[in-house]
Amino acid sequence: MLDSSLKNKFEFILVEPSHPGNIGATARAIKNMGFHNLSLVNPKDFPNDDALYRAKGAKDILDNVKVYDDLSSPLEDATLIFGTSARTRTIPWPTKTSSELGTVLKKTLESSNAKICFVFGREISGLSNEELQMCDYHIKIPTDEDFSSINLSHAVQIISYVLKMELDSIDSTQEIKDETPTFQDNEYLIDHFDKVMRQIDFYDQENPKQVKTRMRRLIKRLQPDKLETGILRGFLAKIEQILNKKN
Ligand code: SAH
Repeated sequence: MLDSSLKNKFEFILVEPSHPGNIGATARAIKNMGFHNLSLVNPKDFPNDDALYRAKGAKDILDNVKVYDDLSSPLEDATLIFGTSARTRTIPWPTKTSSELGTVLKKTLESSNAKICFVFGREISGLSNEELQMCDYHIKIPTDEDFSSINLSHAVQIISYVLKMELDSIDSTQEIKDETPTFQDNEYLIDHFDKVMRQIDFYDQENPKQVKTRMRRLIKRLQPDKLETGILRGFLAKIEQILNKKN
């Protein structure tokens, strides 16, 4: 059985929810499954009585909600990020089905700084491409193909249920290993690659053909560890040093 401190490593993030009722229903949904951490990015109307009414016995979750101005703030120290979407997007991202979730979670929970985020989008338009590209994996809950958009709080309920089922079968006494690079560490690495690529005119800046997005996808798919990230950053710094000597 999973001890509750492992569930504290999970955070549910709603981006610009417009209906306070959905925020309350989400608080109730996650508490039913034993989770506690709820964050909101630019909620349209919160705090609000409707949210309180729909939360029922989950008022404590609403009392502890964290509110942010942008999505990168709650993600900064995240070590694994899942973006949820009813649609597949132009540049396909690594996806995970619920049956594959257990293996990824187990590996992430081994790291001493594990923080796993699940990001949910706006009721009307979902998550933007840019927000989805901040995530390591995408999850699309299987639905009828002609009617794929699930109510926000219902989507949270399904994901948190699947998560509970997976977590209940993970041994909470598993060995804790080293730190994993965070979202912010990966951002520095992606920006460093982009900076050096520009410096050596690797791509046409007028027509970048999504090179940076593809680099971002590559790094998120490979998930280099701290040592590998250090080697790549050192390698890029050395190139910069040589270029600077030439100029
Ligand atoms: N019209 C929007 C749907 C928004 S529904 C769109 O097409 O993207 C609000 C949020 O609920 C979504 O951003 C997503 O986080 C979640 N959601 C809804 N249906 C989903 C599904 N089938 N799979 C995964 N997440 C879903």
